[in-house]
Amino acid sequence: MAKTEPSAGKQHISEKPVTFGNWYQHVNWINTTLILIVPVGGIVAAFYTQLRAITAAWALLYYFWTGLGITAGYHRLWAHRSYEAGLPIRIFLACVGGGAVQGSIRWWSSKHRAHHRWTDTVKDPYSVMKGLWYSHFMWMVLNQNPKTRGRTDISDLNEDPVVVWQHKNYGSVILIFGVLFPMFVAGLGWGDWKGGLVYAGILRFSFVQQATFCVNSLAHWLGEQPFDDRNSPRDHVVTALITLGEGYHNFHHEFPSDYRNAIEWWQYDPTKWSIWVWKQLGLATNLKQFRANEIEKGRVQQLQKKIDQKRSKLDWGVPLDQLPVIDWDNFIAETQSGKALVAIAGVVHDVSKFITEHPGGKTLISSAIGKDATAMFNGGVYTHSNAAHNLLSSMRVGVIRGGGEVEIWRHRNNQKGLYA
Ligand SMILES: [Zn+2]
Ligand SMILES: [Zn+2]
Repeated sequence: MAKTEPSAGKQHISEKPVTFGNWYQHVNWINTTLILIVPVGGIVAAFYTQLRAITAAWALLYYFWTGLGITAGYHRLWAHRSYEAGLPIRIFLACVGGGAVQGSIRWWSSKHRAHHRWTDTVKDPYSVMKGLWYSHFMWMVLNQNPKTRGRTDISDLNEDPVVVWQHKNYGSVILIFGVLFPMFVAGLGWGDWKGGLVYAGILRFSFVQQATFCVNSLAHWLGEQPFDDRNSPRDHVVTALITLGEGYHNFHHEFPSDYRNAIEWWQYDPTKWSIWVWKQLGLATNLKQFRANEIEKGRVQQLQKKIDQKRSKLDWGVPLDQLPVIDWDNFIAETQSGKALVAIAGVVHDVSKFITEHPGGKTLISSAIGKDATAMFNGGVYTHSNAAHNLLSSMRVGVIRGGGEVEIWRHRNNQKGLYA
C-alpha cells in the first residue's frame, strides 16, 4: 500500500491536529479506497446481486487460498522465513496473497518485522497501545509519521525474484487476482459474472482483509498469555478460527520463526497443516520448529510468575527476619502478665484472638500458653494440617533468642558444665 515520504524540514501532516480544513490530508486515500471504500461498495452491490450456491462455494474456496497466501506466504514464509518453499509454491502464494489485497509482500513483511521487533512501542506500525481500532485498520487509513517508522532489514526479500516481481507489478496483481480471476472463474464456469465479481472478488477479499487485521488487533487484546505477559500478544481460538490458525499469537511472538502457530494437534491451524502437506509433497523444506523443552520452559516460567503474583497478594505473616527477638524469660514474663503467647519452633505466636476459634477446643490451646508447644503442635497431640501451619504463621509476633525451650535448656545446662 502507499507510502508517504517526509519532505525535508517540513512538519509532517501526522504531527498536526486534525481540523475541518485538513482532515483529508491525514487520510491515506489509496489504502482507504482499498480497505474501506471498495469493500463498502461491495456490501451495497451485494443487495442487488443474487448469491448462487456455487458462487458462494467458490468464494469460500478462494477465501482459503487467498487467506493462505497471507498466512502461509506473506507471514510465515516471507516475513518470518519459518520454512523454505520451491518456486511453484512461491509463485502460487505471491499470486493468491496479492489477491487478498493487503499490500505487496515487501511492504507487508517489512511492516510485520517492525511489529515483532518493536511490539507495543511507538515504532510498532500497528501498536495496540494506540487503541484497538488503530491497530485494526486506522494505522493504514491515517498517514503515519515516517519519523517514528521502525526500520527493518528486508535485503533477503529483495533477493527473491518472486517478491521483487510481485512488488513491481503490484497494481496488476491485485486487479487480476483480487477481482478478475475470481470473476472469470464464476463467469466462464457457470455464467455468474456479477456474483463472481461481488462475492468471490470484493466481499471475499474484504473478509480476508478484516481477518488479517484481527491478528493485529484482536490477537493483541483477547485471550490468554501462556508464554509471556510482558507484551500484548494473546492466544484465542476465536482469532484462530477467522485467521486460518494465526490466533495463537502469544506463542507466535515468543517463537516467531516456528512454522506453527498452534502447537497442539487439536488446535485449529490449517496454515500449519498446509505447510506440512507441501513438505510431504516435496514442495516445502526446512520447516523450523522450536524444541518442546524450550517451549515448556517458557510455559513453566509464566506459570511460576502467575503463582508468585498470587502468592504476593496473600498474608503469610510477618517475615521471620522482621520479627523482634525475645528472651525466653521475657516470653514467660509476658504470658504471666496476661498475654496469650505460645512458642512453636522458636517462634512466638499471639493466639489471644484465636483461643475461642481453635477447632481442638479452648482448653487445649490455653494449656499451651507460656510454653514451648512445638511437640504438641507437630503431632504430640495432633498433627496439624497445612492450613493450620499457614494460619499459625499469620499470628507470629516474635522470635525466641536461642531457639525453642529445649535449645535454651541445653544451652543453660552446657554453661553449667552438665554437657561437656
Ligand atoms: Zn502481533
Ligand atoms: Zn508474525
